[in-house]
Amino acid sequence: MSISRRSLLRNIGAGAIVGAAAPALRAFPPSPTMETTLWGNSTPVVQPGDAAVADPILLYRNENPYGPSEKVLAVMREFAASGNRYPRTEYDTLVDKLAALHKVKREQIVLGCGSGEVLCMAAMAFLKPGKKLVEAAPTFPALGKLAQTSGIEVADVPLNKMYEHDLPTMLDRAGNSAGLVYIVNPNNPTGSLTPRKDIEVFVSKLPANIPVLIDEAYHHFAAPGGAYESFLDRPVNDPRVIVARTFSKIYGLAGMRIGYAVATPEMIKRLSTGFPGWSVSVVSARAASAALDDVDYVRLGVKRNTDDRQEFLNQVNARMLRAIDSQTNFVMVNPMRPPDQVIEHLKKHNILIGPKYPALDKYIRVSLGTPPEMQEFWRVWDLMPPSGKMAM
Ligand code: PLP
Repeated sequence: MSISRRSLLRNIGAGAIVGAAAPALRAFPPSPTMETTLWGNSTPVVQPGDAAVADPILLYRNENPYGPSEKVLAVMREFAASGNRYPRTEYDTLVDKLAALHKVKREQIVLGCGSGEVLCMAAMAFLKPGKKLVEAAPTFPALGKLAQTSGIEVADVPLNKMYEHDLPTMLDRAGNSAGLVYIVNPNNPTGSLTPRKDIEVFVSKLPANIPVLIDEAYHHFAAPGGAYESFLDRPVNDPRVIVARTFSKIYGLAGMRIGYAVATPEMIKRLSTGFPGWSVSVVSARAASAALDDVDYVRLGVKRNTDDRQEFLNQVNARMLRAIDSQTNFVMVNPMRPPDQVIEHLKKHNILIGPKYPALDKYIRVSLGTPPEMQEFWRVWDLMPPSGKMAM
């Protein structure tokens, strides 16, 4: 028996879900306090009544601070009026668009309530007692937490010294019997890349019965022409590979909750089993379709992010701090002070950054905000006493 729908729902906080058949990720995260569970965000989250409750600067969940494009916003406004209707053609229209974009058949795509739902689908399909999850440490924690809370073993394999997935050790830990391997590339929270050629070798050595989920949530931010190459842009002919993408990052649609997976038709059938396919709303599907059409906005988003990241690194260098080289819209920084104190100091000044990651416990993760938000971030940063004077 794999993770049952019932235990999945129980474990992800089914109390928030109306009806046992509701899509699993509806509960992801239904309230700010849930962020401490599956989203893996142990940042002290703002509670009602906190002084910081008024419009905090949100640099903690790798969202797109610029939001969706004007064209997408216009579509969202237009279709908000269809809120009384169930989706009819919107799901299929978006699937067709994605199939054309990625040059695959429509049967090779499944949509989800965020790519988080795709992770749930993979967990439901492939993990069960005796069929462990193999993943990096640190990485995006939702899948690992879901497995753990369902009583399934998780093999956490530390990143190597270059902050790449340690694929030889992951291969070792997978053995012949892992249920699923999870690779996040570029990785969250480090923003680092694992070279494409190494993943190819890894997949070719992995036993034929073990699927690999490659999470490309931050695909658009990775510099082209380097060691990174998407498994959608240049697919490998391997039925075990599932690629997950999201509309939450470059397209600025995190609140719309929409993502998707691409794999073989057989794999997509397996992933979708038990998922009713009604977790995508009219507005989110329309918004996603419009976002795919607005290629200029994607280009603008990439440029803005490159500039914002460079400015952030300039500020890091000016303060003699250390950062992990990032190919994403967030950066991991060694603040040269205890991370908890930094997180707390910023929170007191209405700025939320990422949680502390046990596997990299000297670092903080900062999602890039708009230039004014980042100016405020550094202004508040500089209110801290020099690092030598802070208790370690
Ligand atoms: N995968 C990774 C690597 C992420 O960092 C996130 C969210 O931050 C997700 C998946 C979930 O994204 P979505 O909003 O599509 O559910």
